[in-house]
Amino acid sequence: MGFERFFSERAKKVKASAIRELLKLVSKPDIISLAGGLPDPATFPKKEVKEISQLVVDKYGDTALQYGITEGIPELREWLGKNFSGRNVGIENVIITSASQQGLELVGKAFIDPDDPIIVELPSYLGAISAFKLYDARFVGVTLDDEGLKIDELKDKLIALKKEGKKPKFVYTVSNFQNPAGVTLSLERRKELLQIAEENDFLIIEDDPYHFINFSKEDVPSIYSLDTQDRVLLLGTFSKILTPGFRLGWIFGPEEVLQKIVQIKQATDLCTNTFVQYIAYEYASSGALEAHFDHIVKIYKEKRDVMLESLDKYFPKEVKWTHPEGGFFVFAYLPEYINTDEMFYDAIEEKVAYVIGSAFYPDGSGKNTMRLSFCYPSKENIEEGIKRLGNVIKKKLR
Ligand code: PMP
Repeated sequence: MGFERFFSERAKKVKASAIRELLKLVSKPDIISLAGGLPDPATFPKKEVKEISQLVVDKYGDTALQYGITEGIPELREWLGKNFSGRNVGIENVIITSASQQGLELVGKAFIDPDDPIIVELPSYLGAISAFKLYDARFVGVTLDDEGLKIDELKDKLIALKKEGKKPKFVYTVSNFQNPAGVTLSLERRKELLQIAEENDFLIIEDDPYHFINFSKEDVPSIYSLDTQDRVLLLGTFSKILTPGFRLGWIFGPEEVLQKIVQIKQATDLCTNTFVQYIAYEYASSGALEAHFDHIVKIYKEKRDVMLESLDKYFPKEVKWTHPEGGFFVFAYLPEYINTDEMFYDAIEEKVAYVIGSAFYPDGSGKNTMRLSFCYPSKENIEEGIKRLGNVIKKKLR
């Protein structure tokens, strides 16, 4: 029996993504995948999680195994606000979410009416595109360069919208070591973006999961920490710095907005997993995170180095790529005449996989681009994978 007639209009809009279909081909054991964005399990603090789990049962058992308030446990909210917000915020400016993907979905639900324009980066994080698509957002794309979102292009898009009598509800940006492009929004542009948000009256959704996977000495202040007008929501997550299995994240933002999001979240899951909130709180407040960050940054930086060295060695000079100072991803721009959607099958023949760049462009462009992840594969596989891919590309050159 077909069930189509039972599905809601909203559910009908969700299609099995082309990229998921492609990624099914990747699961064969002899294929080197530079596609997935999974953290390296070597970064999971297993011993500490084991010990702290026991401690949490002993110390907080009755509360930690109980339902909690939708906002999240006060201890963790207070700790995050003090240590990660870069601002002097109160507990009312922090809520806990079931990781940042839930944050994105709640943002979609809270702000987007059908055909509401929202500004996204080109390319943009696929999970956010999916979340916002559910609410029928109209995606207005702004391309990136080495300093992130191009401000001049943003201004042009705002003028074009104004001519239609419209303005965006928000700008969505992955401010640090962007997924998929690997670039960071410069300090100058963060300030400009805030000013433009004020002038044009829109919000900024700053999604910052890679903040602490920083290979450089430079730490650009978050847009949230620079905001003096209460226009920014910052989404954070423990997924890349502790474990994605916890499904634990947070949102910093104005109290009135967070209260609305909490009301919506109540209908979604009542509360975020209380047990892991206590584990994360105990781990973070023990002071262990600093040493842990050093440990994981070393792992990812070495892998990034291997990927960049391998790209220099094996990719033809016709290809350009980003040089991320953190995060998980390099983004490559091939000559315009090479279609990476089509080339994917050639790559699979050569036993290497990437994510087709077009998946990150809600306007259907980006056909000559690809995302390459260095987070999960071993260093040996990164080099071998890039070598194989270099050969695939060379065969496509005119
Ligand atoms: N935002 C960005 C930019 C991401 O790259 C990811 C994970 N790939 C997420 C949000 C979602 O992560 P999580 O739900 O595990 O916090």
